[in-house]
Amino acid sequence: MNVLVLNCGSSSAKFAVLDAATGEEHLSGNAQRLNSNEATLDWKHGGQKHSRPLPGADHGVALRAALEQMSAAGLTASLAGVGHRVVHGGSRFSASTRVTPDVLKGIEACIPLGPLHNPPNLEGIRVAQELLPSLPQVAVFDTAFHQTMPARAYTYPVPLEWLAQHEVRRYGFHGTSHRYVAGRAQALLGVNPDQGALLIAHLGNGCSATAVLNGQSVDTTMGLTPLEGLVMGTRSGSVDPALVGHVARASGQTADQVLDALNKKSGLLGLSGLSNDMRTLEAAAAEGHERARLALEVFCFVLARQLAGLVVSLGRLDALVFTGGIGENSTLVREAVLGHLGFLGLALDPVANLKAVRGQGGRITSSTTPQALVVPTNEELMIAIDTAQLVSTS
Ligand code: ADP
Repeated sequence: MNVLVLNCGSSSAKFAVLDAATGEEHLSGNAQRLNSNEATLDWKHGGQKHSRPLPGADHGVALRAALEQMSAAGLTASLAGVGHRVVHGGSRFSASTRVTPDVLKGIEACIPLGPLHNPPNLEGIRVAQELLPSLPQVAVFDTAFHQTMPARAYTYPVPLEWLAQHEVRRYGFHGTSHRYVAGRAQALLGVNPDQGALLIAHLGNGCSATAVLNGQSVDTTMGLTPLEGLVMGTRSGSVDPALVGHVARASGQTADQVLDALNKKSGLLGLSGLSNDMRTLEAAAAEGHERARLALEVFCFVLARQLAGLVVSLGRLDALVFTGGIGENSTLVREAVLGHLGFLGLALDPVANLKAVRGQGGRITSSTTPQALVVPTNEELMIAIDTAQLVSTS
């Protein structure tokens, strides 16, 4: 069953036509720099890459242009539904759902929690409804998988009234990736979907780790927003919240400006002063760049420390699973993290570690209980699978 998967950001729209049963990707692409004169549409079909300028295009124009390519490839008529990535579902959505007027209102109500992401996600749904009115639309939330966390894991130790008044709690993100990777890891371990004590480390530009017990998320590092938790490309992860006031007062900035720096100028970029990109930092560190070396050290140490903390939510550990661009490719990060976590019984197999790159997954420890795995993520496929399931059952 073919599904169109859409992921609309503030200035971009990623799209892919996938067969939900086989995972085969028929066509995929990305419209970038939307609402500017430099807007482009890039797409891949039949092993060929294409690009065309779309000056001034908004989401509507870009999706129309993308649909033209899908039609030219003979795919439009085969579509059974459209699956949308929606970042914040708050406490309202604990699973993927068919889009109805009430669901649209629910996503709108979550805008204060996801002010940067939910508006473009909604725009994508509206445009798709307009351009493909006969197709069912499905919303797949980054937060939904984590709605199974117990209160002790999602409650912040702040005045409890803030939960009711301002919806302040841990939500967690990357849920679609964590859910997909947990399922793949269970299959590799030979356990049922309701078994296993897993730590999933999704390490891309954004990074988060999740404790998955018996198929359910029971704890995760990201919080009310995707700023909390691990060190990321440009995000600091967890820091003392009092530093916001301190730096604001000391530097004459507003709290919002300091928060902006925690989101966009911190993490690997802020520490290294060089780049948010792990590949660049690994190369620079190898050539003796001290700040790149420090950035790598802090990244791996904080990751290991938070992973160890998440084991408390599992009670035991069957497997630590690496995914995302860094998790799937950085042999160096995996080696350093497993070095820190040796006390859990994780023993690196250096040869297997070097082999698990560029889409090649598998076990990278000589130890089997617990073990460490590399599992390439595929959020688009998870969205397509959810969409196909909802379209055929409701
Ligand atoms: P996004 O979160 O934007 O989807 P990705 O999952 O693609 O990002 O991850 C991007 C990160 O993966 C970058 O920091 C990049 O440097 C890192 N990465 C990709 N390939 C390698 C590699 N071979 N070695 C180390 N890091 C890598």
